[in-house]
Amino acid sequence: MRSSRELVSAGLSDAGIRIGLEIHCQLTNLRTKLFCGCPADYRSSPPNTHICPICMGLPGSLPSPNRRAIEDGVAVAIALNSEISKRMTFFRKNYFYPDLPKNFQISQYDGGGGVPLAKGGFLSIEGGKRIRIRRIQIEEDPAKLAYEGTIDDSTATLVDNNRAGIALLEIVTEPDMEDPREARAFLEKLRGILECLGVSNGELEGAMRCDANISLGGGTRVEIKNISSFKEVERALAFEITRQRQLLSRDIKVRRETRHWDEVRKITVSLRAKEEEEDYRYFPEPDIVPIEITEDFIEEIRRRLPELPDQKKERYIRQFGLKEHNAELISSDNALSRLFEECVKMGGDPIEVSNWLVGDLISFTRELGMELTDPRVSPRKIVELVNLIRSGSISTKIAKEVLMESLRSDESPEEIVRKRGLLKISDEALLQRVIEEVFEENEEAVKEALRDEEVVNFLIGQVMKKTRGKADPKLTYEIIKRELGKLL
Ligand SMILES: [Zn+2]
Repeated sequence: MRSSRELVSAGLSDAGIRIGLEIHCQLTNLRTKLFCGCPADYRSSPPNTHICPICMGLPGSLPSPNRRAIEDGVAVAIALNSEISKRMTFFRKNYFYPDLPKNFQISQYDGGGGVPLAKGGFLSIEGGKRIRIRRIQIEEDPAKLAYEGTIDDSTATLVDNNRAGIALLEIVTEPDMEDPREARAFLEKLRGILECLGVSNGELEGAMRCDANISLGGGTRVEIKNISSFKEVERALAFEITRQRQLLSRDIKVRRETRHWDEVRKITVSLRAKEEEEDYRYFPEPDIVPIEITEDFIEEIRRRLPELPDQKKERYIRQFGLKEHNAELISSDNALSRLFEECVKMGGDPIEVSNWLVGDLISFTRELGMELTDPRVSPRKIVELVNLIRSGSISTKIAKEVLMESLRSDESPEEIVRKRGLLKISDEALLQRVIEEVFEENEEAVKEALRDEEVVNFLIGQVMKKTRGKADPKLTYEIIKRELGKLL
């Protein structure tokens, strides 16, 4: 994938790429839906079993807002530095679509006298870049549609109304992202914040969904709808950049439209020409009175907030002297920061621990398809590993193998080192004998090593090979230099 800078240098885009996101997060920790008492945990239930007259919008039914949903929304707004409305209103968004059996969605509207939960704010991604938030609003989730195969060739659309009426938070950004990777970084940071606040579990299928809009060189904006995962967002945007760039390079105008990301074929397909806002026919929801949000209410929620990722990051740098990059990565991911803090509590050296976590641990668990919350990824293992290195018992190279092995098995690093005889060889007499062997087998190299330091490294490599990586590298170097000195 090419960055915006490369595009500019290729002369195909002058003003670069602008990406804005519209994220729908389910408030997954609520017990009930947004306006009725139907259970919010629909994932484990057969389709169309969690429905009632309110969430189906039957005549005469009265929606009643879930207080906890508003508390959660306010918590998110505080965390995103947004300005919370003192009095918010609900609107009906009218449209006809199979995912909306009652033909309107209770949502909020920023305009026409409507007031969303919050406006403004920002979230910083790594490197300190601020992505501005346009607004945050509360709304109900429509029903879930399912297709057989792809949206294009499916012969039927299946509707599950269990999802209709689930509380959603819609977070809309300004088009401040200039690269698909920034969009992904934003989403990952946002998910960390939502999980830290305990309002949404992004691991759940469909809990975080995303629409993205993208324009090239100040041109027409294209919207991509319903992307289900962060990896897919990055892919969909990269595809769309390529598609639009190819059109532009052939002097074809990019159409203003809504496209669908087809995860199976990895392409975007045109859904419809973009509907204008008036197509939705917003009007005030007559059954819900405006909700007053007092300063006291906001303050109470502010007091209850946990330490947020950015605060955590600052503390890691201040308290433990972590590098910015490590502090950012660890603080943004709840599982990782919990692991880090437990390791430090057990006496693990914070800097060493942080290096292992963001380096090999992340890549090894990914390789093994393990979650960081897997019990085999225990803080005790990490601390033992770090201590084995610090005490000089094993080399860093061996430590990597030990870490991988201990993640795969139930064995601790100490057990693995003991059972497989991986202790670093720091016995001078033993190393001396190995080095003498290496010298005998590599007479030419030894002569060259007298003049060329590079060849000394080759000899160290030979010693490592013979000891299967267990020789103490520092001691090996010293003995080799001493032996070479004798030959001069
Ligand atoms: Zn209901």
